[in-house]
Amino acid sequence: MQIETSYQNAKVYITGAGPGDPELITLKGVRAIQEADVVVYDRLVNPELLAYSSETSEHIYVGKKPGKSSVSQDQINRILIAKAKEGKTVVRLKGGDPFIFGRGGEECEALAAEHIPFEVVPGISSALSAPAFAGIPLTHRNLARSFTVVTGHTLTDNDLFQNWEHLSHADTLVILMGMRNLDKIVQTLIGYGRPADTPVSIIERATTTEQRVVTATLETIAERSEHLRSPATIVVGELAAMSQDLAWFQSAEQNKFEVNYPERIAKYAG
Ligand code: SAH
Repeated sequence: MQIETSYQNAKVYITGAGPGDPELITLKGVRAIQEADVVVYDRLVNPELLAYSSETSEHIYVGKKPGKSSVSQDQINRILIAKAKEGKTVVRLKGGDPFIFGRGGEECEALAAEHIPFEVVPGISSALSAPAFAGIPLTHRNLARSFTVVTGHTLTDNDLFQNWEHLSHADTLVILMGMRNLDKIVQTLIGYGRPADTPVSIIERATTTEQRVVTATLETIAERSEHLRSPATIVVGELAAMSQDLAWFQSAEQNKFEVNYPERIAKYAG
């Protein structure tokens, strides 16, 4: 990679923040935040993680503000590029894993086009951790030998159900961003032959103190989960039923591993 001398100290870390529980970030992710001059973060990132950053670091929020639209991907790319060209260490902190529906790939493309060095720090995706925190194994000997992760929302939703005939046969199907289209998703799966009594679990705000889980069947889930909101992860398949027996996580009050965070956390968490 050819790097311009004027910003050769620059580095952008495209970093996964994990699903919400601030302990579910990698050590590498924490180190990147500690070294950052600038942290550019999203709505789904737990703001407690900003407490790892230095007192002098700059924090730029690029998520949606109530009643306003979010900062466009172009604008985010421009911010990353501009800060890096000032020779700064930039952490782009994204919910879950940056390469799973996080548009991290697009950010890397924009940086590569400008010859800005970057690293990708993987994160614990909600696709994995929401089922884990609901007691749903994604695979299980003889019951499910694969799992598939799909979006339940596209730009116009016109092409959303392309390939869903095939998806309706997935062993375990994990659907992100699917709450708004839940009715259609359920009808599509049943329409392609998935039995109406197939177990489904929806996990809202997984890994946080506000986690809620509803388990039902394809036929009943839409009605039973009316009170749930995004962000939520939908799991379809036989293993979703295991949630009823293995729901080990109720709330952080039961979390033995609760840690005492540094004082500065209060500043960001409030
Ligand atoms: N890159 C992220 C996903 C971004 S898409 C990741 O790897 O997790 C946003 C979707 O992720 C939400 O609509 C929801 O389906 C899911 N999601 C994110 N955080 C979640 C959480 N705490 N609990 C349940 N689902 C979550």
